[in-house]
Amino acid sequence: MKRIIMLLLTALAAMAALAGCTQKPDETRDLDTKLRVTTTIFPPYDFTREIAGGLVNLTMLLPPASESHSYEPTPKDIIALQNSDVFIYVGGESDDWVERVLASMDTSKMTLIGLIDSVKALEEESVEGMQADEEEGEALDEHIWTAPRNAISIVRAIAAALAQKDAANAENYRRRAAEYIAQLEELHRSFEAATIHAARRTIVFADRFPFRYLADAYKLTYFAAFPGCSTETEPSAATVAFLIDKIRAEKIPVVFHIELSNERMADTISEATGAKKLLLHACHNISKQDFTNGVRCIDLYRRNAENLKEALR
Ligand SMILES: [Zn+2]
Repeated sequence: MKRIIMLLLTALAAMAALAGCTQKPDETRDLDTKLRVTTTIFPPYDFTREIAGGLVNLTMLLPPASESHSYEPTPKDIIALQNSDVFIYVGGESDDWVERVLASMDTSKMTLIGLIDSVKALEEESVEGMQADEEEGEALDEHIWTAPRNAISIVRAIAAALAQKDAANAENYRRRAAEYIAQLEELHRSFEAATIHAARRTIVFADRFPFRYLADAYKLTYFAAFPGCSTETEPSAATVAFLIDKIRAEKIPVVFHIELSNERMADTISEATGAKKLLLHACHNISKQDFTNGVRCIDLYRRNAENLKEALR
């Protein structure tokens, strides 16, 4: 690994020398003065974009529409990381590669932000009827961004780091973060409105369940086929039967699936029970089209609040 990185760095130096001759002066200045921020997955990318707008050069390593749990950095990603002033990752199980790669780099001038340290992390949970992976032991649930109040803590951590690293724009980062936090507070209130006086508190997922923090924040009970970071997608007949029985017994009106899912299990359960199939978007990643269109986590989460309201009737 070390040797590969050394080769990459040599190649990079050569590329930078070439780029110097071909770039227009404006672009060069841009690259030289703007803070370079790299994130692993979509939520920190999206939050940083809200806080920094065009003030930073922002890169997301995970390609849009790809699976966040099996991501491994490419040589190009390692170059992007090495060139960063700020690197933002979650710090859960899916980021096992981060420490390994950072250990082989000079990170003395880099600000590193592991977001799991900015919230009260909860352990991944296995509930009745759930098909858990064999080797799954006790691990922190890494889907920390799915509850609005957690998102606020994360935004504060990112904004503080940007302001410290780029003092000239500190006021801008603080102002934009405050505006975004106000929107997240409003989102929190719409989740409260959807849940506080709801007729029921139980939700059913024909999918993985990356919403432990959301369920905890709004006191929801959940049943799901798999834990949040499971690599499994094919449920056993017993798992499907359990979820169908749950929906029938409690007359639950909605069966959820998550984003970038094949939705097959949700279709099966919806057909068997008459429950409506709806999306609860965890914002792990978004489609290429949504990425190009600039779709934001908060847009997806506002729709989540609407869908949750429908599920709790
Ligand atoms: Zn996950």
